Amino acid sequence: RAKTAGKNTYAFFNASMVSQASERLTMENALRNAITRQQLELHYQPQVDPDSGLIVAVEALARWHHPEWGMIPPSRFIPLAEETGLVLVLGHWVIRAACEQIARWDAAGIRVPRVAVNLSARQFADSSLCQVLTDALTSAGIAPQRIELEVTESALIEQPDAAVALLNELKALGVHLALDDFGTGYSSLSQLKNLPLDALKIDRTFIDGVPNDPNDVAITEAIVAMARKLALTVVAEGAETIEQRDFLAACGCDLIQGFYYSRPLPPEALAAYIRSGTSRHSATRMDL
Ligand code: C2E
Ligand code: MG
Ligand code: MG
Ligand code: MG
Repeated sequence: RAKTAGKNTYAFFNASMVSQASERLTMENALRNAITRQQLELHYQPQVDPDSGLIVAVEALARWHHPEWGMIPPSRFIPLAEETGLVLVLGHWVIRAACEQIARWDAAGIRVPRVAVNLSARQFADSSLCQVLTDALTSAGIAPQRIELEVTESALIEQPDAAVALLNELKALGVHLALDDFGTGYSSLSQLKNLPLDALKIDRTFIDGVPNDPNDVAITEAIVAMARKLALTVVAEGAETIEQRDFLAACGCDLIQGFYYSRPLPPEALAAYIRSGTSRHSATRMDL
């Protein structure tokens, strides 16, 4: 069809490009509505201290339930949200929702010490971020220490000066700061030293290979050793097997997050998981 419109347009439009563009526009509009129509929700994945088996924190992970399209994973809508700038309003919603959830768990007597929230690189240019965070903490009535913000290396590289200034501002509010997907980006170690970080999260791609791949073992051990020297909490992400868990525990990881302990869970299911004490049983499995 595009062909008949003239030879110059052919190079720019074809049927599949048009349908891709319109699909994208449809998705964009749907995502714009998703927040107000309450189609987004947060699931929470435990970060477990392997020594005690206690849940020290949970990571909030966004989910989109579309009435017709079903469950859309964040890998499909976060990039779109970033490209369109919708990630700013989405990010505000996530912060508020996480704070409100902590207050609800508190009221129900469920002990969730801290919730980690992902920040997109785009949010580093969001001048309202600190105010939104302060307001969310205040209206939920929770201490700033109960929120951790996860940032990626790419955010730090794109705008290093703005990023450092914002991280300092966030740190001054009292929230925890973690560097997510560590080892996959290009942040220099000297840059790292100047950031007010509390934690490093070792990327899942390295955890995949432990304990069998000698390179992944070496990288994981080196990151743990470095994190210790820098007095940072080290979190291993994506542990699925008992072998991975045992290796990471022996290696000195402070916290382990992964399907081995639990998948990300809706709030009620997380409460049930905590009440059941499953993570504590898992911690002692090695000694049985
Ligand atoms: P992430 O922040 O690195 O989150 C960890 C991802 O690893 C989650 O995927 C989690 O479900 C998955 N995961 C954890 N343990 C295991 C495991 O043992 N095995 C496997 N195969 N996967 C595991 P998810 O929920 O699909 O989220 C993907 C990414 O989407 C996140 O990566 C994060 O970058 C982004 N994301 C999710 N929620 C938000 C949000 O609220 N805001 C922003 N800006 N990004 C978000
Ligand atoms: Mg994360
Ligand atoms: Mg990660
Ligand atoms: Mg330990």
